[in-house]
Amino acid sequence: MTRYLLRGGAPLGAERTDLLLIDGRIAALGADAAREAGAEARVVDAEGLVVLPGLVDLHTHLREPGKEEAETITSGTRAAALGGFTAVHAMANTSPVADTAGVVEQVWRIGREAGWADVFPVGAVTVGLEGTRLAELGAMANSEARVRVFSDDGHCVWDPVLMRRALEYVKAFDGVVAQHAQEPRLTEGAQMNEGVVSAELGLTGWPAVAEESIIARDVLLADHVGSRVHICHLSTAGSVEIVRWAKSRGIAVTAEVTPHHLLLTEELARSYDPVYKVNPPLRTEEDVLALRAALADGTIDIVATDHAPHPREDKDCEWQQAAFGMTGLETALPVIIDTMVDPGLMTFADVARVLSTKPAEIGRVTDHGRPLAVGEPANLTLIDPAARRDVVPAEHATLSDNSPFAGRTLPGRVVATFLRGRPTVLDGQAMTPTAANGATTK
Ligand SMILES: [Zn+2]
Repeated sequence: MTRYLLRGGAPLGAERTDLLLIDGRIAALGADAAREAGAEARVVDAEGLVVLPGLVDLHTHLREPGKEEAETITSGTRAAALGGFTAVHAMANTSPVADTAGVVEQVWRIGREAGWADVFPVGAVTVGLEGTRLAELGAMANSEARVRVFSDDGHCVWDPVLMRRALEYVKAFDGVVAQHAQEPRLTEGAQMNEGVVSAELGLTGWPAVAEESIIARDVLLADHVGSRVHICHLSTAGSVEIVRWAKSRGIAVTAEVTPHHLLLTEELARSYDPVYKVNPPLRTEEDVLALRAALADGTIDIVATDHAPHPREDKDCEWQQAAFGMTGLETALPVIIDTMVDPGLMTFADVARVLSTKPAEIGRVTDHGRPLAVGEPANLTLIDPAARRDVVPAEHATLSDNSPFAGRTLPGRVVATFLRGRPTVLDGQAMTPTAANGATTK
């Protein structure tokens, strides 16, 4: 039997209380917790810490199988645990592509054995992400991995007929299609946001309309079909307006924003440092402010990291040749505190909603993103909101070091993460998986 007594933490940043975790569940709260703890309970001093439900990422690239030098399922989920996550959705653009029951089950199983965080594989929408034939969505949904989120992320499901059929298909098992909204013809050779800066730098621009036109089409398709659609990494003020309009019409659309699109702008491209090259590109200050407002008012439902690790050789080169993408699992929470909580746009209850409850809901994950109440699964993260830390990629658990926040000082530190009542992180340190959760070693 494992027992942990968390003393004096503040659930959702509200009043301080004690939490007792027994055998993977929250067994008691408040005065009952201390009384029922017993002598064998391990005590964690949570004085001054905020207790949140374990974070859930709907958009992570773990790179395994196929690109294990950039990240493995084990290294990526260890990074996730250190970032406060208890569950991650692993994107399908691996090699081989996660487009069959066999591949998604393999990813799911390796995640389970590693034991750092629950891994929910995302299934590809089309075979090989090629955009020509629907993948075996039903077989992935019925597999052991129980896939509910489908995405060709990295590629847009451009063909409207295929998109319509995918939306129709996933209805049968309450799945969702997560669209990477990028009109391919409008973004051929595109390197950064289209505007004054791209013109000055002589880099091919990526117009906002390339994102917005696909979102507009897809919310109309979702409405027509009566299905759920999720929009990955919204990056423009115009995209926000379209999602707002769709929601006002009762269309079942949800949307995510990344931490980097809430903090960084296209101005960073002036450095020609490829660490700032990302898809969709960093946009303008006006876009950043619109995204923050939309996250605060619920137009944008969730924050997702789009953690995209790359080996050095894919980033240490000319801007034009460099890969798109940034790491993000270990900096997501600090960036959200910096951009949303500290300026007074959101409370920690809102943070729990956008980084845990809602992403779990969209992914139809039942054991994460739950209320901090007796009987609920003990998937938790404890953070010190008063701490400030320098971002040093070499200290991160991810195998890649392409963090755009390197050199910044950000607020908030993850002190502990509990997965089913056992710590994956304690005192800010990753625990060994076997000690952490009793999973079989690998
Ligand atoms: Zn994407």
